[in-house]
Amino acid sequence: MSNNVPFLNLRAQHDPIKVDLLAAFAQVIDANAFAGGPFVARFEAEFAAFCQTRHAVGVGNGTDALWFALLALGVGPGDEVITVSATFMATAEAISFTGAKPVFVDIDEATYTMDPRLIVAAITPRTKAIIPVHLYGQMADMDPIMDIARRHKLYVVEDACQAHGAEYKGRKAGAIGDAGCFSMYPGKNLGALGEAGAITTNDAALAEKMKVLRDHGQKVKYHHASIGWNGRMDGIQGAALSIKLKALAAGNAARRQHAEHYTRLLAGIEGITTPVVAAHGIPVFHLYVIRLQDRDRVLAALGERGVACGIHYPIPVHLQPAYASLGLGKGALPVTERCAQEILSLPMFPELTAGQVEVVVRELQGVLGSPAATLARAS
Ligand SMILES: *Cc1c(COP(=O)(O)O)cnc(C)c1O
Repeated sequence: MSNNVPFLNLRAQHDPIKVDLLAAFAQVIDANAFAGGPFVARFEAEFAAFCQTRHAVGVGNGTDALWFALLALGVGPGDEVITVSATFMATAEAISFTGAKPVFVDIDEATYTMDPRLIVAAITPRTKAIIPVHLYGQMADMDPIMDIARRHKLYVVEDACQAHGAEYKGRKAGAIGDAGCFSMYPGKNLGALGEAGAITTNDAALAEKMKVLRDHGQKVKYHHASIGWNGRMDGIQGAALSIKLKALAAGNAARRQHAEHYTRLLAGIEGITTPVVAAHGIPVFHLYVIRLQDRDRVLAALGERGVACGIHYPIPVHLQPAYASLGLGKGALPVTERCAQEILSLPMFPELTAGQVEVVVRELQGVLGSPAATLARAS
Protein backbone atom coordinates (compact mmCIF):
# COMPACT_ATOMS: atom_id res chain seq x y z
CA MET A 1 0.00 0.00 0.00
CA SER A 2 1.56 3.26 -1.10
CA ASN A 3 0.46 5.81 1.41
CA ASN A 4 3.40 8.11 0.98
CA VAL A 5 2.51 11.78 1.14
CA PRO A 6 5.43 14.15 0.64
CA PHE A 7 5.66 17.40 2.56
CA LEU A 8 6.17 19.31 -0.67
CA ASN A 9 6.28 18.28 -4.33
CA LEU A 10 8.18 20.75 -6.50
CA ARG A 11 8.43 18.26 -9.34
CA ALA A 12 4.64 18.28 -9.69
CA GLN A 13 4.72 22.07 -9.78
CA HIS A 14 7.38 22.27 -12.48
CA ASP A 15 6.48 19.40 -14.81
CA PRO A 16 3.52 21.20 -16.45
CA ILE A 17 5.56 24.38 -17.11
CA LYS A 18 8.93 22.81 -17.86
CA VAL A 19 8.74 23.58 -21.58
CA ASP A 20 7.94 27.23 -20.85
CA LEU A 21 10.75 27.46 -18.29
CA LEU A 22 13.31 26.01 -20.70
CA ALA A 23 12.20 28.39 -23.46
CA ALA A 24 12.55 31.32 -21.06
CA PHE A 25 16.03 30.19 -20.04
CA ALA A 26 17.01 30.08 -23.72
CA GLN A 27 15.88 33.70 -24.03
CA VAL A 28 17.99 34.73 -21.04
CA ILE A 29 21.01 32.90 -22.46
CA ASP A 30 20.57 34.48 -25.89
CA ALA A 31 20.24 37.94 -24.30
CA ASN A 32 23.22 37.48 -21.94
CA ALA A 33 20.96 38.94 -19.26
CA PHE A 34 22.20 37.01 -16.24
CA ALA A 35 22.66 39.45 -13.34
CA GLY A 36 19.70 41.77 -13.01
CA GLY A 37 18.63 43.10 -16.42
CA PRO A 38 15.42 43.08 -18.48
CA PHE A 39 14.01 39.75 -17.25
CA VAL A 40 14.31 40.90 -13.65
CA ALA A 41 12.81 44.32 -14.53
CA ARG A 42 9.83 42.63 -16.16
CA PHE A 43 9.25 40.41 -13.15
CA GLU A 44 9.54 43.42 -10.83
CA ALA A 45 6.76 45.21 -12.71
CA GLU A 46 4.56 42.11 -12.70
CA PHE A 47 5.15 41.38 -9.02
CA ALA A 48 4.45 45.01 -8.02
CA ALA A 49 1.15 44.80 -9.92
CA PHE A 50 0.32 41.50 -8.20
CA CYS A 51 1.03 42.98 -4.75
CA GLN A 52 -0.80 46.22 -5.60
CA THR A 53 2.29 48.30 -4.86
CA ARG A 54 3.99 50.93 -7.01
CA HIS A 55 7.42 49.29 -6.90
CA ALA A 56 9.11 45.93 -6.49
CA VAL A 57 12.86 45.46 -6.28
CA GLY A 58 14.29 42.05 -7.14
CA VAL A 59 17.09 40.84 -4.87
CA GLY A 60 19.10 37.71 -4.17
CA ASN A 61 16.85 36.15 -1.50
CA GLY A 62 14.41 36.98 1.28
CA THR A 63 17.16 37.64 3.81
CA ASP A 64 18.66 40.27 1.46
CA ALA A 65 15.18 41.75 1.06
CA LEU A 66 14.81 42.27 4.81
CA TRP A 67 18.35 43.56 5.20
CA PHE A 68 18.16 46.05 2.31
CA ALA A 69 14.75 47.32 3.41
CA LEU A 70 16.08 48.06 6.90
CA LEU A 71 19.30 49.62 5.57
CA ALA A 72 17.38 51.80 3.11
CA LEU A 73 15.17 53.03 5.96
CA GLY A 74 18.31 54.05 7.85
CA VAL A 75 18.26 51.34 10.53
CA GLY A 76 21.75 50.84 11.93
CA PRO A 77 23.97 50.47 14.99
CA GLY A 78 22.35 51.57 18.24
CA ASP A 79 18.83 51.10 16.89
CA GLU A 80 16.27 48.56 18.00
CA VAL A 81 13.79 46.75 15.79
CA ILE A 82 10.74 45.07 17.29
CA THR A 83 9.84 41.70 15.81
CA VAL A 84 8.77 38.21 16.84
CA SER A 85 10.80 35.20 17.88
CA ALA A 86 8.31 32.82 16.27
CA THR A 87 9.81 33.13 12.81
CA PHE A 88 12.59 31.86 10.61
CA MET A 89 16.03 32.98 11.80
CA ALA A 90 16.46 35.35 8.82
CA THR A 91 14.09 37.98 10.25
CA ALA A 92 16.39 38.54 13.22
CA GLU A 93 19.59 38.07 11.23
CA ALA A 94 18.66 40.92 8.89
CA ILE A 95 18.18 43.20 11.90
CA SER A 96 21.50 42.14 13.41
CA PHE A 97 23.37 42.63 10.12
CA THR A 98 22.36 46.32 10.06
CA GLY A 99 24.03 46.64 13.46
CA ALA A 100 20.67 47.06 15.20
CA LYS A 101 19.27 44.86 17.95
CA PRO A 102 16.20 42.65 17.59
CA VAL A 103 13.63 43.11 20.35
CA PHE A 104 11.17 40.25 20.50
CA VAL A 105 7.52 40.45 21.50
CA ASP A 106 5.27 37.47 22.00
CA ILE A 107 2.66 36.24 19.54
CA ASP A 108 -1.09 35.94 19.53
CA GLU A 109 -1.84 32.33 20.41
CA ALA A 110 -4.66 31.99 17.86
CA THR A 111 -2.85 33.27 14.77
CA TYR A 112 0.85 32.81 15.67
CA THR A 113 1.54 36.39 14.54
CA MET A 114 2.78 39.43 16.48
CA ASP A 115 0.51 40.38 19.38
CA PRO A 116 -0.08 44.12 18.82
CA ARG A 117 -0.99 44.60 22.50
CA LEU A 118 2.63 43.94 23.47
CA ILE A 119 4.34 46.40 21.13
CA VAL A 120 4.05 49.66 23.06
CA ALA A 121 5.76 48.21 26.15
CA ALA A 122 8.69 47.15 23.96
CA ILE A 123 9.26 50.62 22.47
CA THR A 124 12.30 52.57 23.71
CA PRO A 125 13.93 55.80 22.48
CA ARG A 126 16.13 53.56 20.29
CA THR A 127 13.27 51.80 18.51
CA LYS A 128 13.34 52.51 14.80
CA ALA A 129 11.11 49.92 13.15
CA ILE A 130 8.70 47.04 13.59
CA ILE A 131 8.82 43.82 11.55
CA PRO A 132 5.58 41.85 11.77
CA VAL A 133 5.90 38.39 10.24
CA HIS A 134 2.99 37.02 8.21
CA LEU A 135 3.72 33.52 9.48
CA TYR A 136 2.42 30.44 7.67
CA GLY A 137 0.76 32.73 5.09
CA GLN A 138 -1.57 34.62 7.41
CA MET A 139 -1.05 38.35 7.77
CA ALA A 140 -0.39 39.89 11.16
CA ASP A 141 -3.06 42.25 12.52
CA MET A 142 -1.74 45.26 10.59
CA ASP A 143 -4.18 48.04 11.60
CA PRO A 144 -3.10 48.29 15.26
CA ILE A 145 0.54 47.75 14.24
CA MET A 146 0.42 50.62 11.72
CA ASP A 147 -1.42 52.78 14.22
CA ILE A 148 1.26 52.29 16.90
CA ALA A 149 4.01 52.84 14.32
CA ARG A 150 2.50 56.14 13.20
CA ARG A 151 2.05 57.39 16.74
CA HIS A 152 5.63 56.53 17.66
CA LYS A 153 7.15 57.46 14.28
CA LEU A 154 8.44 53.96 13.56
CA TYR A 155 8.88 52.26 10.21
CA VAL A 156 7.06 49.03 9.45
CA VAL A 157 8.72 46.35 7.33
CA GLU A 158 6.45 43.40 6.59
CA ASP A 159 8.16 40.02 6.55
CA ALA A 160 5.94 38.60 3.83
CA CYS A 161 8.33 35.77 2.96
CA GLN A 162 5.55 33.23 3.60
CA ALA A 163 2.64 35.33 2.41
CA HIS A 164 2.77 36.10 -1.33
CA GLY A 165 -0.78 37.13 -2.21
CA ALA A 166 -2.22 37.03 1.31
CA GLU A 167 -4.72 39.78 2.13
CA TYR A 168 -5.60 41.97 5.09
CA LYS A 169 -8.91 43.83 4.82
CA GLY A 170 -8.63 43.77 1.03
CA ARG A 171 -4.98 44.85 0.91
CA LYS A 172 -2.18 42.59 -0.21
CA ALA A 173 0.80 41.50 1.87
CA GLY A 174 3.67 43.89 1.26
CA ALA A 175 1.37 46.81 0.45
CA ILE A 176 0.67 48.11 3.95
CA GLY A 177 4.02 48.76 5.66
CA ASP A 178 6.81 51.03 4.40
CA ALA A 179 8.25 47.97 2.68
CA GLY A 180 7.30 44.32 2.18
CA CYS A 181 9.91 41.58 1.98
CA PHE A 182 9.45 38.39 0.02
CA SER A 183 11.47 35.21 -0.36
CA MET A 184 11.29 33.23 -3.56
CA TYR A 185 13.14 30.28 -2.07
CA PRO A 186 11.96 27.21 -4.05
CA GLY A 187 9.53 25.96 -1.40
CA LYS A 188 7.75 29.29 -0.84
CA ASN A 189 4.31 29.98 -2.37
CA LEU A 190 6.10 31.74 -5.21
CA GLY A 191 9.37 29.88 -5.63
CA ALA A 192 12.28 30.48 -7.99
CA LEU A 193 14.44 27.69 -9.40
CA GLY A 194 17.14 28.71 -6.98
CA GLU A 195 17.47 31.70 -4.68
CA ALA A 196 15.57 34.95 -5.17
CA GLY A 197 13.70 37.61 -3.23
CA ALA A 198 11.90 40.92 -3.69
CA ILE A 199 11.00 44.07 -1.78
CA THR A 200 7.76 45.95 -2.42
CA THR A 201 7.07 49.58 -1.56
CA ASN A 202 4.92 52.51 -2.60
CA ASP A 203 7.76 54.95 -1.89
CA ALA A 204 9.71 55.78 -5.07
CA ALA A 205 12.69 57.21 -3.18
CA LEU A 206 12.93 54.11 -0.99
CA ALA A 207 12.72 51.81 -4.04
CA GLU A 208 15.54 53.76 -5.66
CA LYS A 209 17.68 53.47 -2.51
CA MET A 210 17.15 49.71 -2.41
CA LYS A 211 18.03 49.38 -6.11
CA VAL A 212 21.30 51.23 -5.51
CA LEU A 213 22.02 49.17 -2.37
CA ARG A 214 21.62 45.83 -4.15
CA ASP A 215 24.01 46.98 -6.87
CA HIS A 216 27.18 48.07 -5.00
CA GLY A 217 25.85 51.55 -4.29
CA GLN A 218 26.06 52.48 -7.96
CA LYS A 219 23.43 54.16 -10.07
CA VAL A 220 25.85 54.59 -12.95
CA LYS A 221 28.28 51.72 -13.51
CA TYR A 222 31.54 52.17 -11.55
CA HIS A 223 30.25 55.36 -9.88
CA HIS A 224 29.59 54.37 -6.28
CA ALA A 225 27.62 57.00 -4.40
CA SER A 226 27.35 54.80 -1.30
CA ILE A 227 28.63 51.51 0.05
CA GLY A 228 26.25 48.85 -1.18
CA TRP A 229 26.37 45.14 -1.73
CA ASN A 230 25.87 42.55 -4.45
CA GLY A 231 22.24 41.59 -3.91
CA ARG A 232 20.88 41.42 -7.45
CA MET A 233 18.37 38.85 -8.66
CA ASP A 234 19.56 36.48 -11.41
CA GLY A 235 18.07 36.98 -14.88
CA ILE A 236 17.27 33.25 -15.00
CA GLN A 237 15.27 33.59 -11.77
CA GLY A 238 13.43 36.69 -13.00
CA ALA A 239 12.40 34.81 -16.15
CA ALA A 240 11.31 31.74 -14.17
CA LEU A 241 9.37 33.85 -11.67
CA SER A 242 7.44 35.63 -14.45
CA ILE A 243 6.18 32.23 -15.56
CA LYS A 244 5.47 30.95 -12.05
CA LEU A 245 3.72 34.16 -10.95
CA LYS A 246 0.93 33.33 -13.42
CA ALA A 247 0.08 30.25 -11.34
CA LEU A 248 0.36 31.88 -7.91
CA ALA A 249 -3.26 32.92 -7.39
CA ALA A 250 -4.54 29.47 -8.41
CA GLY A 251 -1.89 27.81 -6.24
CA ASN A 252 -2.94 29.90 -3.24
CA ALA A 253 -6.60 29.04 -3.86
CA ALA A 254 -5.71 25.33 -4.01
CA ARG A 255 -3.82 25.65 -0.71
CA ARG A 256 -6.89 27.28 0.90
CA GLN A 257 -9.06 24.45 -0.37
CA HIS A 258 -6.71 21.82 1.09
CA ALA A 259 -6.65 23.77 4.36
CA GLU A 260 -10.45 23.80 4.55
CA HIS A 261 -10.50 20.08 3.83
CA TYR A 262 -7.94 19.39 6.57
CA THR A 263 -9.81 21.56 9.05
CA ARG A 264 -13.13 19.86 8.28
CA LEU A 265 -11.68 16.39 8.76
CA LEU A 266 -9.61 17.27 11.82
CA ALA A 267 -12.56 18.91 13.57
CA GLY A 268 -13.62 15.44 14.67
CA ILE A 269 -10.37 14.61 16.40
CA GLU A 270 -9.91 15.49 20.03
CA GLY A 271 -6.71 17.16 21.13
CA ILE A 272 -5.90 18.85 17.84
CA THR A 273 -6.02 22.61 17.36
CA THR A 274 -6.50 23.57 13.73
CA PRO A 275 -5.42 26.94 12.26
CA VAL A 276 -7.59 29.94 13.11
CA VAL A 277 -8.33 32.13 10.11
CA ALA A 278 -8.65 35.67 11.44
CA ALA A 279 -11.64 37.65 10.25
CA HIS A 280 -9.33 40.36 8.96
CA GLY A 281 -7.94 38.53 6.02
CA ILE A 282 -7.39 35.82 3.47
CA PRO A 283 -4.41 33.58 4.24
CA VAL A 284 -2.39 31.70 1.63
CA PHE A 285 -1.40 28.69 3.78
CA HIS A 286 2.29 28.56 3.05
CA LEU A 287 2.07 25.99 5.84
CA TYR A 288 -0.84 24.18 7.44
CA VAL A 289 0.08 24.05 11.11
CA ILE A 290 -1.83 22.18 13.82
CA ARG A 291 -1.12 21.98 17.54
CA LEU A 292 -1.14 18.91 19.70
CA GLN A 293 0.46 17.32 22.74
CA ASP A 294 3.20 14.74 22.33
CA ARG A 295 4.18 16.37 19.06
CA ASP A 296 7.60 14.76 18.62
CA ARG A 297 6.20 11.23 18.95
CA VAL A 298 3.42 12.00 16.48
CA LEU A 299 5.87 13.53 13.99
CA ALA A 300 8.11 10.45 14.13
CA ALA A 301 5.19 8.01 13.91
CA LEU A 302 3.71 9.83 10.91
CA GLY A 303 7.09 9.67 9.23
CA GLU A 304 7.11 5.91 9.75
CA ARG A 305 3.69 5.73 8.11
CA GLY A 306 4.95 7.62 5.05
CA VAL A 307 3.49 11.03 5.89
CA ALA A 308 6.20 13.71 5.82
CA CYS A 309 5.58 16.52 8.29
CA GLY A 310 7.72 19.34 9.66
CA ILE A 311 8.12 21.81 12.50
CA HIS A 312 8.22 25.53 11.76
CA TYR A 313 10.09 26.22 13.92
CA PRO A 314 11.27 23.89 16.69
CA ILE A 315 13.44 26.44 18.54
CA PRO A 316 12.31 30.08 18.83
CA VAL A 317 14.92 32.59 17.68
CA HIS A 318 15.44 34.02 21.19
CA LEU A 319 16.47 30.57 22.46
CA GLN A 320 18.97 29.94 19.66
CA PRO A 321 22.63 29.85 20.74
CA ALA A 322 23.24 32.54 18.11
CA TYR A 323 21.19 34.98 20.22
CA ALA A 324 22.43 33.91 23.64
CA SER A 325 23.95 37.38 24.00
CA LEU A 326 20.45 38.88 24.25
CA GLY A 327 20.16 37.11 27.60
CA LEU A 328 16.60 35.91 26.98
CA GLY A 329 16.17 32.58 28.67
CA LYS A 330 13.28 30.15 28.78
CA GLY A 331 10.10 31.84 29.92
CA ALA A 332 10.85 35.18 28.24
CA LEU A 333 8.18 34.60 25.57
CA PRO A 334 5.77 32.02 26.99
CA VAL A 335 3.30 31.80 24.10
CA THR A 336 6.06 31.49 21.50
CA GLU A 337 7.78 28.81 23.57
CA ARG A 338 4.60 26.83 24.21
CA CYS A 339 3.68 26.85 20.52
CA ALA A 340 7.18 25.72 19.50
CA GLN A 341 6.62 22.56 21.58
CA GLU A 342 3.23 21.75 20.08
CA ILE A 343 3.17 22.86 16.43
CA LEU A 344 3.21 20.38 13.58
CA SER A 345 3.17 21.30 9.88
CA LEU A 346 1.19 18.85 7.74
CA PRO A 347 1.89 18.33 4.02
CA MET A 348 0.76 21.43 2.10
CA PHE A 349 1.32 22.36 -1.53
CA PRO A 350 -1.05 23.25 -4.37
CA GLU A 351 -0.72 19.89 -6.15
CA LEU A 352 -1.74 17.94 -3.04
CA THR A 353 -4.87 15.88 -3.73
CA ALA A 354 -8.01 15.52 -1.62
CA GLY A 355 -7.12 11.83 -1.33
CA GLN A 356 -3.71 12.69 0.10
CA VAL A 357 -5.30 15.04 2.65
CA GLU A 358 -7.53 12.14 3.70
CA VAL A 359 -4.53 9.82 3.99
CA VAL A 360 -2.73 12.32 6.23
CA VAL A 361 -5.76 12.65 8.51
CA ARG A 362 -6.33 8.89 8.60
CA GLU A 363 -2.70 8.22 9.52
CA LEU A 364 -2.80 10.97 12.13
CA GLN A 365 -5.86 9.33 13.62
CA GLY A 366 -4.10 6.00 13.56
CA VAL A 367 -1.17 7.47 15.46
CA LEU A 368 -3.44 9.13 18.01
CA GLY A 369 -5.49 5.99 18.40
CA SER A 370 -8.76 7.67 17.55
CA PRO A 371 -11.58 5.54 16.17
CA ALA A 372 -11.68 5.41 12.38
CA ALA A 373 -15.37 6.28 12.56
CA THR A 374 -14.43 9.89 13.26
CA LEU A 375 -13.12 10.30 9.73
CA ALA A 376 -16.32 8.99 8.18
CA ARG A 377 -18.42 11.31 10.34
CA ALA A 378 -16.29 14.36 9.59
CA SER A 379 -16.37 13.85 5.84
C1 LIG B 1 12.07 32.06 4.00
C2 LIG B 1 11.97 33.14 5.00
C3 LIG B 1 12.92 34.17 5.10
C4 LIG B 1 14.22 34.18 4.34
O1 LIG B 1 14.13 34.03 2.97
P1 LIG B 1 15.37 33.42 2.14
O2 LIG B 1 14.95 33.62 0.73
O3 LIG B 1 15.50 31.99 2.51
O4 LIG B 1 16.57 34.23 2.48
C5 LIG B 1 12.68 35.19 5.99
N1 LIG B 1 11.60 35.20 6.78
C6 LIG B 1 10.69 34.21 6.75
C7 LIG B 1 9.50 34.29 7.65
C8 LIG B 1 10.85 33.14 5.86
O5 LIG B 1 9.95 32.16 5.86
